[in-house]
Amino acid sequence: RVKESGRGACRFFDETMNSDALDHLQLRNGLRRALDRGGFVLHYQPQIDLTSGAVSGVEALLRWRADDGALIPPARFIPVAEESGLIVPIGDWVLREACRQAMLWQQAGLPPLMMAVNLSAVQFRRGDLLQTVIIALTESGLPASCLELELTESLLIADNENVLAVLRALKQLGVKLSIDDFGTGYSSLAYLKRFAVDQLKIDRSFVRDLRSDPEDAAIVRAIAQMGRSLGLRTLAEGVEDSVTASLLCTCQCDAAQGYYFARPLPPEEFVSFFRARQESSPEELE
Ligand code: C2E
Ligand code: MG
Ligand code: MG
Ligand code: MG
Repeated sequence: RVKESGRGACRFFDETMNSDALDHLQLRNGLRRALDRGGFVLHYQPQIDLTSGAVSGVEALLRWRADDGALIPPARFIPVAEESGLIVPIGDWVLREACRQAMLWQQAGLPPLMMAVNLSAVQFRRGDLLQTVIIALTESGLPASCLELELTESLLIADNENVLAVLRALKQLGVKLSIDDFGTGYSSLAYLKRFAVDQLKIDRSFVRDLRSDPEDAAIVRAIAQMGRSLGLRTLAEGVEDSVTASLLCTCQCDAAQGYYFARPLPPEEFVSFFRARQESSPEELE
């Protein structure tokens, strides 16, 4: 059977090829087109220092702008981008764009903020990540100390020589390392010793029901304590209400991020958010 796919392209499908495979193919072509045509955008979610109440940084979160203008969230396309290897050029773009934006904000008079960028394990396996980071920093002029890379536990567990070497070199540059979704991966903590990470991002699944679930509260408190003993900053993800924010202060988490403070924002809206927060009373956590 022959089916039409995209403009002029003919592809052969056998009977086993289901609609998933077709979606996959269309997605992959769409991602490639988006790369060529500037079809990706970054939104920035503020990260709040719980001691001062100030914005300490932002996390860059990728969105794909579809032809009709709709923004497609990463969960819909990152898996296909990873399988196809397209995450390497997409991830390169993310790093360069995020560093460029961070420097623009500094030039616009905002204080130096930490720019956090998510990385996929595929970027370590298939790309020249170190080179990309060096280019992104050099091109933008952003100090390495203002860039934080978010890694997954599974990447660190893999214990691959290449990953280890790249992480060491990144640390040497002065880039910060953060473990995303901390607590959801394997339970081995040995890698905290082996890799010089700077921050643990406590996964949203422990934060969501913090106000009602004493077990979650115990876990969050334990992670915060462990972080403190190891000299690591802890940041809680997915804070949606003020009660949870104050509980996190009690648990001695260093920082927090979530809809309660702000959703991921387009760059202009982030600047307005930052200025408004600076002008209002610094502490609205209670
Ligand atoms: P993540 O790095 O753990 O990012 C946090 C996700 O939680 C974001 O979803 C964010 O919008 C959402 N979130 C933030 N605060 C709250 C809250 O209070 N409540 C709830 N329910 N959700 C909240 P998003 O932007 O859809 O991103 C999903 C995931 O996609 C990210 O999880 C990250 O793993 C991945 N991702 C995003 N951008 C990139 C990228 O540039 N490269 C790579 N490799 N992965 C990315
Ligand atoms: Mg993240
Ligand atoms: Mg996360
Ligand atoms: Mg998470």
